[in-house]
Amino acid sequence: MTNDTPYLFYQSRNPRPFLDHGEGIYLFDESGKRYIDGSSGAMVSNIGHSNPRVLAKMKAQMDKATFGYRLHFRTHPSEDLAAKTVAMCPKGLDRVFFVSGGSEAVESAVKLARQYALATGQGGRYKVISRFPSYHGCTFGALDLTGYEPLRAPFAPMMEGMPKITAPTTYLDRDNLTEDERGIRYAELLRERIEEAGPDTVLAFLMEPVGGASTGALVAPDSYYQRTREICDEYGVLLIYDEVMTGAGRTGTFLAAEHWGITPDIVALSKGFGAGYAPLGAIVASSRLVEPVLDAGGFQHGFTYAGNPLACAAGLAVLEELEDQNIIENAALMGALLKRRLEDLMAHFPFIGDVRGKGLLLAFELVADRGTMRPLAKELNAYTRLVEIAYDLGLIIYSRRTRGGLEGDHFLICPPLIITEPQIDELMELLEASLTRLADEIMPAASE
Ligand code: PMP
Repeated sequence: MTNDTPYLFYQSRNPRPFLDHGEGIYLFDESGKRYIDGSSGAMVSNIGHSNPRVLAKMKAQMDKATFGYRLHFRTHPSEDLAAKTVAMCPKGLDRVFFVSGGSEAVESAVKLARQYALATGQGGRYKVISRFPSYHGCTFGALDLTGYEPLRAPFAPMMEGMPKITAPTTYLDRDNLTEDERGIRYAELLRERIEEAGPDTVLAFLMEPVGGASTGALVAPDSYYQRTREICDEYGVLLIYDEVMTGAGRTGTFLAAEHWGITPDIVALSKGFGAGYAPLGAIVASSRLVEPVLDAGGFQHGFTYAGNPLACAAGLAVLEELEDQNIIENAALMGALLKRRLEDLMAHFPFIGDVRGKGLLLAFELVADRGTMRPLAKELNAYTRLVEIAYDLGLIIYSRRTRGGLEGDHFLICPPLIITEPQIDELMELLEASLTRLADEIMPAASE
């Protein structure tokens, strides 16, 4: 692998062009080539690129102050963003703490949970149960909670090794249960793990309500959400939703939790919250948790850049845009349409084994055999090949090879939430052309 730049993170085998500018759902490289941003970067650019109203509000803030340390000044952008966030979240989530990214949000959620336990005489609780597969971030705390071995394994000896349960990969199950029964069966794994770990030692359960990069838009049966909430209540375990990817409208509601009427105890937000206009994240929690922590001396945690006025002005402008332009409603509508269009592809491409997701957090999975969901051979590298072919044609999509205990190739289709129907036609045309090329390339080999 050649690396002719001092930039450590530039190490792609296929050198990428320099980005020139963005406009709505499109990105342009320096040669003028146009790409549909079919994954919103890494499911970030929810309101599209170069939104003029957001840029104007950011510029107005830039002219005043780009930084003011939170211990020295209150700022209107941070106060206003906190109020707006609470107003957009379900009732009961009424306190906000700002960070600069998703890993920081997850770390902060867990640390708030722990300080709540300490402040309420439950110091024995420290274990956080999460799921496999999952992705929660790359800092040590968040990584220990991440069920994605390629990233976690090198550092395993340096971490506590927090308990995991299997995520509900029900689409792979070939049993006679109903969806509801499957949901309950997977949820009951949480009870088993709590009992095994020792109920008095379990602090929290952390989950992505709709899986992201790790599982490819995995949605659980409805019963799963209800039952996991009940189990947490029963054992006094805090329920943390990692909505870093699903939050800020991505699934067609502000929080994905709203689809199931669940109020988590703490929610982690990032990605679409700053929507690519600023490195921004937040945790939103109930004052029931926050008050005891404040009474016990305050939240012993904080990042230098947290709550800075420029990032918060950007975040506030993003949330205002979501509301003013009815973008979340559009995500629900366009998401349903795009999902149907992806399902239609299954008639033409037998190697599409599953289409799933909610709102505009959608994915499809490629398999060798739809009946058994046997994955394509790893050597075919379908997950990288399709991304390359699509990129060539001017469509950016996001892929991973992993799932459950098995291995498979899934592709996230997550355009900005402002996408229109004609733009979905355009995206689908490029995707279909990409899949046709992939089929020509790999199908002879796949059927050998
Ligand atoms: N949680 C989830 C669900 C994510 O998808 C991600 C990023 N892919 C993170 C946490 C970590 O966010 P960041 O990369 O901003 O630290």
